Amino acid sequence: MSDFGGAVQESDRYDLAVLGIPYDEKSSYLRGAASGPAAIRAASNGDMINASTELGADLSRDTVLVDLGDVDVSGGFAQVSGRIEAKLGEILDHAAVPLILGGDHSITYPIVRSLARTYPALDILHFDAHPDLYEEYQGDPHSHACPFARILEEELCSGLVQVGIRAVTAEHRAKAAGFGVRMLEMKDLEDDLALSFRRPLYISFDIDALDPAFAPGVSHLEPGGMSTRQALSILHRLEAHIVGMDVVEVNPARDPSGITAAAATKLLMEVAGKIVLERRSS
Ligand code: MN
Ligand code: MN
Repeated sequence: MSDFGGAVQESDRYDLAVLGIPYDEKSSYLRGAASGPAAIRAASNGDMINASTELGADLSRDTVLVDLGDVDVSGGFAQVSGRIEAKLGEILDHAAVPLILGGDHSITYPIVRSLARTYPALDILHFDAHPDLYEEYQGDPHSHACPFARILEEELCSGLVQVGIRAVTAEHRAKAAGFGVRMLEMKDLEDDLALSFRRPLYISFDIDALDPAFAPGVSHLEPGGMSTRQALSILHRLEAHIVGMDVVEVNPARDPSGITAAAATKLLMEVAGKIVLERRSS
């Protein structure tokens, strides 16, 4: 399975759990994100990269990282959501942090529904080119264009901050204003953006937040995004108790060199390292 730079261990006790959700049936334009977990695992091969992160954690030594494999995604959305919630519950019962490999962005709604049971006051930091706030899209309230509308309506989070946004409609703006979403649009992004959160923080990272020059392997090309380094800097500077992360929308069919999957791996490993260092110092 994956090795995340050689860091993945086999153990019943663990601090960090990788989980794949190879599901893309809620993609509105192109399928392909279902192959994301396999591509991210391949990009994390320990013969290619090591387990040390930029902030100084060694994921092979300083923590116990396991890979729980993939969620069974057969059946309809309700069935898949049920399995996602159950698997997340299992990880949270271990007091561990889930690191989730998508899949299209529709999976974030059941993920957060499960997290909200453990963390009734939860903040979310959402990286994306798109706000994903449609009431419904192509007639589907569970489209990958809608997860944050569902999350807000059900009050599954206390605060939502969106970063990298550059495809906003009037409907999105109205919804964001109505729910008190802090939308940091890409055109206004400050180089030294430093975000802090008081409540437990979940990070949902749609890889199309990155500019397609850095991450071409996405279904919806939206130029004018952030560099991989800009994203890493925002993550490195975060002041927060991070309780989980997903990286979604990697479409390997559009990623011939594997650079998009490599960026996803890097983002996950840097956040994992931050979590490890924070746990060690607290
Ligand atoms: Mn997107
Ligand atoms: Mn998205």
